[in-house]
Amino acid sequence: MKKLIAGNWKMNGGLEANAALLDALAQGLVNPPACEVAVCVPAPYLAQVQLLRAAKPTLSSIELGAQDVSDHANGAYTGEVSAAMLKEFGCRFVIVGHSERRQYHGETDTLVADKAKAALASGITPIVCVGETLAERESGHTEEVVKRQLAAVIHTNGHCISEIVVAYEPVWAIGTGKTASPEEAQAVHHVLRGQLKAATDQFARVKILYGGSMNASNAATLLAQPDIDGGLIGGASLKAPDFLTIIAAARN
Ligand code: PEP
Repeated sequence: MKKLIAGNWKMNGGLEANAALLDALAQGLVNPPACEVAVCVPAPYLAQVQLLRAAKPTLSSIELGAQDVSDHANGAYTGEVSAAMLKEFGCRFVIVGHSERRQYHGETDTLVADKAKAALASGITPIVCVGETLAERESGHTEEVVKRQLAAVIHTNGHCISEIVVAYEPVWAIGTGKTASPEEAQAVHHVLRGQLKAATDQFARVKILYGGSMNASNAATLLAQPDIDGGLIGGASLKAPDFLTIIAAARN
């Protein structure tokens, strides 16, 4: 299976900066890349990135993703963006349940599962984030937390579960410069793989990404772990040389 390297721009960027970043990626990207590549951009810039992808052939190998989606199809939900709208702007992926949304917007396991369902119903692959806080890790609850988070998504999405991507993102490693060691990450990925195996005989199709301060220096060792199928990259995805180095490290 090809690995997937997905950038999460979070709430960063601007028309000029986005164009410059994509330009630098277009120049540095080996085409076709050895892995799948995506950028998950703030909603207002989906149209810009869609147009740039259409204009530059090298960029067509970078898939477009969003960072959140409504669990509703349409209606009186001010501020929300539906999966059908994301689809119209060429989104192939959408991140759901990022820890920043769980933490700052009170997203529950059930809501995250419903968002994954809404994405799948529109033909968009949800990148479902799971991960424990530092307190949960230190108290020995890592496995229980990530399994509970993934179980909700499995429960709601039934046989479609083989269509999702999972991202294991320990909360204590996101944006902190602290990375799970390759062994720590592999151990959790192995648990998640086992949970998927119990849920579907198509489990081998599900990519499990690692996210949390993955960068140009640590990517290769993390990506060499047997159950790490790619990365969800925050800060380092905003720097073209670093993102390109991570992409290059993701060949099988
Ligand atoms: C993320 O936001 O998903 C992430 C992993 O961020 P960072 O790489 O900056 O830790």
